[in-house]
Amino acid sequence: MVKPKVAICWLGSCGGCDEAVVDINEVLLRLADAVDIILWPVAMDFKYDSVRRMKNGEIALSVVNGHVRNSEQEEIAKLLREKSQLILAFGACACLGGTPGLANLSTKANIFNWVYRDAPTVVNPNGNYPQTTSRVNGKELTLPEFYDHVHALNDIIDVDYYLPGCPPPPYSVMYAVSAVLENKLPPKGSTLAPNRALCDSCRRNKSKPDRISIKEIKRIHEVEADPDVCFLAQGIICLGPATRDGCGEACMNINIPCRACFGPVEGVEDSGAKFIPALASILDAESDEDVTRIVNQFVDPVGYLYRFSLPVAIFQKKRAEK
Ligand code: SF4
Ligand code: SF4
Repeated sequence: MVKPKVAICWLGSCGGCDEAVVDINEVLLRLADAVDIILWPVAMDFKYDSVRRMKNGEIALSVVNGHVRNSEQEEIAKLLREKSQLILAFGACACLGGTPGLANLSTKANIFNWVYRDAPTVVNPNGNYPQTTSRVNGKELTLPEFYDHVHALNDIIDVDYYLPGCPPPPYSVMYAVSAVLENKLPPKGSTLAPNRALCDSCRRNKSKPDRISIKEIKRIHEVEADPDVCFLAQGIICLGPATRDGCGEACMNINIPCRACFGPVEGVEDSGAKFIPALASILDAESDEDVTRIVNQFVDPVGYLYRFSLPVAIFQKKRAEK
């Protein structure tokens, strides 16, 4: 029997998403029996040239993690799109841009100036910056081009399915792969996670009062949060009301509030923007000054609300200086 060909590939990635695949433990052996893994750079020595030689559509499924920030990542993403019947964007970086997407608050020039000139540990007397081509001992060396911004995968190629999370939990990896192998997939474009807010399944939900009202915003490291009580009711920012369920509450279980690595539920374009009116509605303030005082306690709102999703948010990025 000819087994379906599967590629597992990283672009701009920390490796955590590949680790999540390994975390399915012995199921990985069953998976390796059921499919022919033809590319998995983090685990095995495959060559991109072997993929280039394949027919278009020859790969049944490519599971792609990581964001796109350079020309090599774009080239690999486009190669996999051409050779694959289905592309699964795997993890918050591929689906939403991920934590590296916070670099969109800066510009390429600022990043290069800091990394190659201004950081106190840098010694670069000739002011060398990375070049896409350079000659060394008569030979030409090339580097991928570093792009102005971080992109989510669907900014670069057409994506069939999404599995968010940083990284996606092992059971959702198994669910996604079996859905593909058993041909039980939802409509194209679907996110393979429940279409409801995390609050709906959160075990702390029953501790929520009918109407939450908070007089101050506290940071998680400044208080001893009650592990059984809704974070918001304790005045600690938790993005559960604006975030898709399906993560398995790994953060909640160690008493850390939700930071939205699963992105928004269907129909919500921007989970950070969605959370702002929810937060405004629970502030217990008697005057404008009171509102300002409480809001100022929300440290780094962009970093908190868009920790995983800035490249797909409505405002997305800082424009490069002219
Ligand atoms: S989604 Fe998280 S675990 Fe996966 S590559 Fe990005 S940062 Fe790493
Ligand atoms: S706000 Fe957070 S802690 Fe409260 S119910 Fe929703 S997910 Fe749970």
